[in-house]
Amino acid sequence: MTNNTQMEFIFPPTIRGMKIKDETSLFPVGKIYCVGKNYAAHAKEMGSEVDKKEPFFFSKPPQALTQVNEIPYPSKTNNLHHEVELVVFLHKGGANVTRDQVDDLIYGYAVGVDLTKRDLQNEFKNAGKPWDLSKGFDYSGPISEISQNKAMLNNAKITLSVNGDIKQESNISMMEWDIASLISILSQQVTLKPGDVIFTGTPEGVGPLNKGDKVVAEIENVGSLNFKII
Ligand code: MN
Repeated sequence: MTNNTQMEFIFPPTIRGMKIKDETSLFPVGKIYCVGKNYAAHAKEMGSEVDKKEPFFFSKPPQALTQVNEIPYPSKTNNLHHEVELVVFLHKGGANVTRDQVDDLIYGYAVGVDLTKRDLQNEFKNAGKPWDLSKGFDYSGPISEISQNKAMLNNAKITLSVNGDIKQESNISMMEWDIASLISILSQQVTLKPGDVIFTGTPEGVGPLNKGDKVVAEIENVGSLNFKII
């Protein structure tokens, strides 16, 4: 490997920056990991069960994260679903991190929605194909401002409403795998870096969004996210 400190990029690299509550600096986004089926009642509504042996992870590209308040209805779907999730932001990394060390890695939290093209996801699943693009399209990860909170968050109400009607309502204490477990287990498979982001799974009540819908997602002691589908 060459020493590349003297070399220049052929064009400037793109780094996504996310707003932090009460801060003028941005959070530089690295990799985004998402957990599937982390609440039993959601796994059940999907005709499945939580993974009790080990949590299941997938990824979204950094380009998915957004803090705009107007989300364009995406192409290639007629069944765009909302999944409200607690999102964790890391300011330190590591491999084989123990549960006790996880606290030190956490910078803060945000409220996020893992937007999903459910019809396309099912089509890919049934064909035995990877379903990345049903989860990893532009604007597929709207988040609130990041709230600095280094304490482990294991109990907080999580809700999502569409046009004022509550659709998802649970508590993050209902997660099968808590934050410490998720990050510790993930770090056995990948080296986590400062900037990495983890969507921790959605509770029950996922459902469709249509053009014009106004979404409000909230997590106690974290914040609130508002957006409109246009
Ligand atoms: Mn999800």
